[in-house]
This record gives sequence, C-alpha cells and structure tokens, in this order.
Amino acid sequence: MTHKAETPLLSITGLNKWFGAYHALRDVDLQVAKGERIVVCGPSGSGKSTLIRCINRIERFEEGRIVLDGLGSAARGRAGQREIEEIRRQVGMVFQHFNLFPHMTVLQNCILAPMRSLRETRATAEAHARELLARVRIADQADKYPGQLSGGQQQRVAIARALCMRPRLMLFDEPTSALDPEMVQEVLDTMVALAEDGMTMICVTHEMGFARQVADRVVFMDRGQILEVAPPADFFDSPRHERSREFLGRIL
Ligand code: ADP
Ligand code: MG
Repeated sequence: MTHKAETPLLSITGLNKWFGAYHALRDVDLQVAKGERIVVCGPSGSGKSTLIRCINRIERFEEGRIVLDGLGSAARGRAGQREIEEIRRQVGMVFQHFNLFPHMTVLQNCILAPMRSLRETRATAEAHARELLARVRIADQADKYPGQLSGGQQQRVAIARALCMRPRLMLFDEPTSALDPEMVQEVLDTMVALAEDGMTMICVTHEMGFARQVADRVVFMDRGQILEVAPPADFFDSPRHERSREFLGRIL
C-alpha cells in the first residue's frame, strides 16, 4: 500500500522531550497517512509510551510539532486547551491496563464520553455502543461490570469504548502485554479487524505475528530515537541496524 500522494493524517517533526535532565525523545520524525498501520517496537525504556502519550497530549514536549490533520500546529505542543480537547476526541487510546470504570457497566463505560463530550443523546450513544460491542464480539456482556469479565474481554471493551468516540486515529500501547497468554489472540483479532476496516493505527506491541500481518511500516525505537522504519518483512528478515538485530534476537 502506498500513501505517498496524501497529506499525512499525523505529522511529527523534530520532536524532543525531556523528563528533567533526561532526554526521553530525540529528534523524532514520523508521518502517518490516513489508513496506515504503524507498529512501534523497541526495548523497554526506549520512549515508545512517551511518544504515544505526546501524540495524545497526555505529555507535554519541549521541541517540535505534532500535527493531527491541521490540529496542534503550534511548536512545542503549545496547543490551546480547546485544541487539545479536540485532538483527544479524535485520537482513541488503548493502554496495557484497561482503565475501565469499575463501578459502571460495560455499556455505561462506552456511552459516558460520547454523551459528555460529543453531546450525543443516550439513545444514539447506546445504539452506537451496542454496534461496537457487537463488532468486538462482546454484545452479550453489555450489562456486566468490568470485574465480571476476563482480561481479554475487558480489553475488547476498552477498544469498543475508544471507538465510540469515532476517532480518526487509534493508539495502542502494549494492549496485550498484561493479558494471560490465552487471551492475547482475541484482542489481536479485534485489532486486525479494525485494521481491515481501514482505521489509522499506531500500535506499540511486540506481537510480531500481528506486525507482519497488518503493519504497513514497523518503527524501531531505541534510547529515545527512531533508529529504523521499514516494512515488516524487511525489518524482521533483514534489520539494518545492529540494535534492531539485537532486539529481534532477544524477542523472537
Ligand atoms: P517504553 O514505553 O519504551 O518502555 P517510556 O516511554 O515509558 O519507555 O519511557 C522512556 C524513558 O523515560 C524511560 O527511561 C523512563 O524511565 C522515562 N520516563 C517515562 N516517564 C517518565 C516520567 N513521568 N518522569 C521521568 N521519567 C520518565
Ligand atoms: Mg511503554
């Protein structure tokens, strides 16, 4: 798939971030086209989560630009509060830990943000939520509480909940790494289905089968830098950077 002709949906240029004296992201550049699927991998501590969190403006950054379809074009992440809220509305995020509200049912978890921030009516939000719960194959659990579900089911709810906001970009930060092994595949299957539907996705994951199956490009990060960007077949079969090879040697 080529996306060269299009203006990118997401454009990251010259991104630098520090935590105090620690230089966590170094000159990160990444353009993501609409419909593109990116897998980000790299050793623990290499800055993957920090990058994802900067895209969603959960973290501030000191240098560079992250522009989502024209939003957030001011340098250094100095977007206004309204612009940040708009970016967050358009960017869905799924974390390692599901972060569902435990005192709300699955359906209530799904309709809260659409009612509050998209001002959808309860009827509209519920109809949409039920449709998405069906899509992640969990329609029959709508009235349960998160604690009554398995980890894999909770993560699928978290994906449906993010989709309820009708995001233009989905970010996944190691969505399967806290799951029992037998539940990993059901969550990956959900992500594959989402990719097949054309969702633009950036997924931090070490699930290399998933990367090979759906990624247009694999981004390898090490010590705050992007060291290599390549189609999955090239990255896995002939990584160019020595540290990519080391990393793959450890995880494959
Ligand atoms: P990864 O997701 O690739 O494992 P992170 O983005 O979580 O890496 O972290 C990158 C580096 O930044 C790590 O060295 C981590 O300790 C550091 N870091 C992350 N968050 C903070 C924070 N809030 N304060 C200070 N250092 C942080
Ligand atoms: Mg991380």
